[in-house]
Amino acid sequence: MSFIHSIKFRFTMWYLLVLAIILVALSAGVYLYLSRSLYRALDSSLVLRSTQLRSIPEILESIRQGEFREELGEVVILYFYSGNRLIEVSPRDISIPVSAEFIARAITGKTSFATIRTAEGEGLRLLAVPVNLSLPGPPQGIQPAALVIAHSTKQIEQALARVVRTLLIAVPLALAVAAGGGVFLARRALEPVDRIARTAQEIGEGDLSQRINVTTKDELGRLAATLNQMIERLEKAFQRQKQFTSDASHELRAPLAVIEAESTLALQKERTSSDYRQSLEVISQESKQMSRLVDQLLTLARADAGKEHWNFTEVNIGKLIENLSTDAEILCQEKGLKFQLGQTQDLIVKGDEARLRELFMNLLDNAIRYTPAPGSVSISLRREGQTAVVAITDSGVGIPAEDIPFIFERFYRADKSRSRAEGGTGLGLAICKHIAEAHGGKIEVQSQVGVGSTFSVRLPLSSP
Ligand code: ADP
Repeated sequence: MSFIHSIKFRFTMWYLLVLAIILVALSAGVYLYLSRSLYRALDSSLVLRSTQLRSIPEILESIRQGEFREELGEVVILYFYSGNRLIEVSPRDISIPVSAEFIARAITGKTSFATIRTAEGEGLRLLAVPVNLSLPGPPQGIQPAALVIAHSTKQIEQALARVVRTLLIAVPLALAVAAGGGVFLARRALEPVDRIARTAQEIGEGDLSQRINVTTKDELGRLAATLNQMIERLEKAFQRQKQFTSDASHELRAPLAVIEAESTLALQKERTSSDYRQSLEVISQESKQMSRLVDQLLTLARADAGKEHWNFTEVNIGKLIENLSTDAEILCQEKGLKFQLGQTQDLIVKGDEARLRELFMNLLDNAIRYTPAPGSVSISLRREGQTAVVAITDSGVGIPAEDIPFIFERFYRADKSRSRAEGGTGLGLAICKHIAEAHGGKIEVQSQVGVGSTFSVRLPLSSP
């Protein structure tokens, strides 16, 4: 990635743009403030000077006579009418380009300021004040006149130009230093992002055991921690997936191997019809087992893909259990077990009847499978607050305590050989758990080896 396309570059550019706007605004403010202060000071000095000159009649007289001595940088000119002619008296015979209105306004008694530029390009600040000349006779009298005091603005202009020159050097210099600092800071601040990107790339190439090494407590540290958690979940999911595929192939291979061996053996030579029957029975048994496994695998695959169709209605769990009991009783009788339909009542839950039936049938199937004759299996329903609790109890082999946390995992079997021999696939409880959770419920198990097990399914009751 080129520097121009990096966040560092954009970050620095924005930072410089904001800084440039601030510096330019600040410089303009300083310039304007300074300029106004200097011109105000000049105006005050002109006012002071005019008061000085006006207050002493002798000075006015000497100005009128053209004998007045001006101060350095100062021009003093007196205007008055003699008949219709405007007379202009200046000690050094300097004439400045002032407008007639400016003079007329002062002669009629109004003080005013003006700024002009001479033919030579020199700036002058002017103050015109009214004065009264006492003319020596004859005819004696008071003559209204205008006294114009001008002062060069050269010094002010020079001072302001110096300020502008300084700012023109200082602002770009400050921006250059800030740019360097900005790149340095952006690089430091975003260095963890580079690290995160590098690790993510390595992970993308297939190494899910990698973790991002950013341990700060800031936003990037939190981001890294979140990503690490995500990678861990991915790694676990990936491992589970791998395990699941290998377990599934293993489970499918076992019945296939039996079918293959049985059919090869049967076909080796002529056999009696009872031998063929026996072989076909074995093959049929294994095919059923395989078909059950494939069905369950499909169910779980659909669940994982979120592609299941649920048909939620108001289901009377009590009635459902009574219906199931007929099938369960037959299965128990076949195995020489006692079946008991315990307490039930009419409790309504919102659910998919077929899937709930599958859930309870799976649990009853397990209870029958893991209970040797002459044991017993029972099912009952009770209400606990807003929950319907279906309990399936058997007096079977029980589950060792260390296996209980894992029995709901796919392909987990507490006793592998027994499960297989009994036609188990190791997927039944995983599917039960999924169905219960899809109904907002859960399954709990209590078991003791040699005594039996109770699986309790808790389902939230449908609100009236
Ligand atoms: P399986 O098809 O092997 O029965 P399940 O997922 O239904 O698979 O059950 C997982 C494991 O839990 C079984 O292999 C068995 O060891 C144990 N199990 C389940 N139900 C019972 C039960 N009622 N009594 C004893 N063990 C059970």
